[in-house]
Amino acid sequence: MFATLSDRLTSTFKNLRTKGRLSEADIDATVREIRRALLDADVAVPVVRSFAAAVRERALSSEVSGALNPAQQVVKIVNDELVTILGGQNRPLTLAKNPPTVIMLAGLQGAGKTTLAGKLALHLKGQGHTPLLVAADLQRPNAVTQLQVVGERAGVPVFAPHPGNQGHDDVLPSGADPVAVSREGLATARAKQHDVVIVDTAGRLGVDAELMAQAGRIRDAVDPDEVLFVIDAMIGQDAVATAQAFADGVGFTGVVLSKLDGDARGGAALSVASVTGRPILFASTGEKLTDFEVFHPDRMASRILDMGDVLTLIEQAEKAFDAEQAEKMAGKLASGEDFTLADFLVQMQQLRNMGSIKKMFGMLPGMGQMREALDNFDEREVDRIEAIIRSMTPAERETPKIINGSRRSRIALGSGTTATDVNQLLDRFDGAQKMMKQMARTGGVPGMGNLPG
Ligand code: GDP
Repeated sequence: MFATLSDRLTSTFKNLRTKGRLSEADIDATVREIRRALLDADVAVPVVRSFAAAVRERALSSEVSGALNPAQQVVKIVNDELVTILGGQNRPLTLAKNPPTVIMLAGLQGAGKTTLAGKLALHLKGQGHTPLLVAADLQRPNAVTQLQVVGERAGVPVFAPHPGNQGHDDVLPSGADPVAVSREGLATARAKQHDVVIVDTAGRLGVDAELMAQAGRIRDAVDPDEVLFVIDAMIGQDAVATAQAFADGVGFTGVVLSKLDGDARGGAALSVASVTGRPILFASTGEKLTDFEVFHPDRMASRILDMGDVLTLIEQAEKAFDAEQAEKMAGKLASGEDFTLADFLVQMQQLRNMGSIKKMFGMLPGMGQMREALDNFDEREVDRIEAIIRSMTPAERETPKIINGSRRSRIALGSGTTATDVNQLLDRFDGAQKMMKQMARTGGVPGMGNLPG
């Protein structure tokens, strides 16, 4: 998401960098390009207008003319203003003083509410909360089952109507009432001492009065601490109108941007906070439960301006990495022991726990210029490497030198690869092992000087 916008903005700045001083004409030309880039990315017109005016005003002030590096100062201004339209600072979830905290999800059908319910539950569980999911979407035939599946994956219980009827919610008796279900769900959470309740509500294909009325009744019944409006970032220009309709019809306290992994223009989603005056709390970036991030306006701005989002990367690494494992590995390397293929497998799995490797690289600064290489990166390559190592015996993983011709054929057969693939991996591993040894000796990482940024 935002790749085109990001490319357009960074190339605008590149032109600026060749100039020492900036004339008013230079600034006007830059602002014009920024305005066009934002409009082409579907950012809402009033948002673009105020954004451009703010950038222009600041760029013409002494803030820029007096700066050591005027071009850089303009980038900083654009960054600041982007942060502002994205809502300024991150706003954490409001937790009730007297639990349970009630979170209600609202949005159109297909926006990603049910998926988000699972992601949010998993996220909160990771912070030590004990969430309960409540299935109050009785509109869509499969919604209850879907929430149950998501709940199971997240390891979080689900309150659904008619327990005897689980898995067959497509034949729910008529009269099943989402308001009653929400109320019962909340009562159950109180009784079973869940400290957070997440209520998944029904959506429609478009905004309609009945949908709004139903959401309003559920809201009145459960008196939520947060109403999170989930918006599909791929729906383009409609996002702003939809958000406005929900803001007027139900009211919401925060926004969740979903499907940020898509390659639509996405600028409309960037306008939602600014247009509705409600902060973006979270972002959803894929179909897996772990494809979920706390939304930080400054980090998102930084990603859009291709300055990277190293903080999010580090946080995801911290979540995924097993500290004990890492320490053991560090100790092993420091003592000069060999880094083996078995260790490599463990490392690769930890990397995997962080999610898509492509997505991770995308958070590094300057990666915009390497987008093509990144787009060509095939995640299946990692699957192949893993399959090859898994087809080896423990002795082979420990001492790859013993892998002769017949062992090689066996490994290739077992992993569904070729002897050449196995050879390539062993050669590359040999190189990596040497590098590890050198690192252990010198205490540094060789070749890191080449990294961009
Ligand atoms: P709901 O109708 O609002 O409950 O939406 P769902 O949670 O059922 O999501 C609709 C579809 O979008 C499903 O196929 C989800 O797997 C998919 N989906 C949800 N969130 C994301 C996301 O962040 N990225 C992508 N690529 N797909 C998503």
